[in-house]
Amino acid sequence: MIRPGTGFPTDRATRTTPVAHVPADVGRLSASAVSLLHVDGRSSVCRACPRLVTWREEVAETKRAAFADDRYWGRPVTGWGDPRARIVVVGLAPAAHGGNRTGRIFTGDRSGDWLFGALHRAGLATQPTSTSAYDGQELLHTRITLPVRCAPPANRPTPLERDTCAPWFRREVELLRPTARAYVVLGGFGWASTWSALRATGSAVPDRVPRFRHGLEVPLDGGPTVLGCYHVSQQNTFTGRLTEAMLDDVLERAKAAAGVS
Ligand code: SF4
Repeated sequence: MIRPGTGFPTDRATRTTPVAHVPADVGRLSASAVSLLHVDGRSSVCRACPRLVTWREEVAETKRAAFADDRYWGRPVTGWGDPRARIVVVGLAPAAHGGNRTGRIFTGDRSGDWLFGALHRAGLATQPTSTSAYDGQELLHTRITLPVRCAPPANRPTPLERDTCAPWFRREVELLRPTARAYVVLGGFGWASTWSALRATGSAVPDRVPRFRHGLEVPLDGGPTVLGCYHVSQQNTFTGRLTEAMLDDVLERAKAAAGVS
């Protein structure tokens, strides 16, 4: 596991960053975070979900054979990209040997290959791949984030873990409010979390939130447009449920909604 404040490129924490140990700490420390850097640093040392803390650190210790020489991040993975993003891409949670290894969401796994390939084609990323936190990749007008920050076993956080992590995501959405004009939400889990965060932070969310559907585009009165997209998981990309053309189309629509040329 990478210790806070030891010089890792995506590390926004220091040795003195306050640590959340229980859900109430998450509420308090997220609410008092004054910037995205603050949210990122504080959430990256969070220990409020015992099952996920054990799992992420165990995976970081045992590793996958193919990555035996890597030092795994093994901590919560935060959002990253343009702090004044006009487009926000929302996933689910880090992959055990992807973000939990590289310290950057969607970096170092097949899902990321798909997403960064599409972001690059859309002019929203400087490189078509994202292999490590040292690769020089940059996002343009865009931030990628996630409603659950620790890698969950079988990619399935429990409802309690989702709710415990929600204040980090909510505060991030709140801090992005002045600039964010389009949310691209990958899958139903992120869809529900995004609506909940937008509602809690003052956006004009309809009483009945529309059900997740790929390609659905919901402009909010005076707020961002929310677009649904199938998740870039291998389950969807290998089976052709999500094609490159479908992903490209959603990103082009997000750019139009966000006024990004
Ligand atoms: S999932 Fe979220 S709330 Fe739970 S330990 Fe990880 S960062 Fe903290």
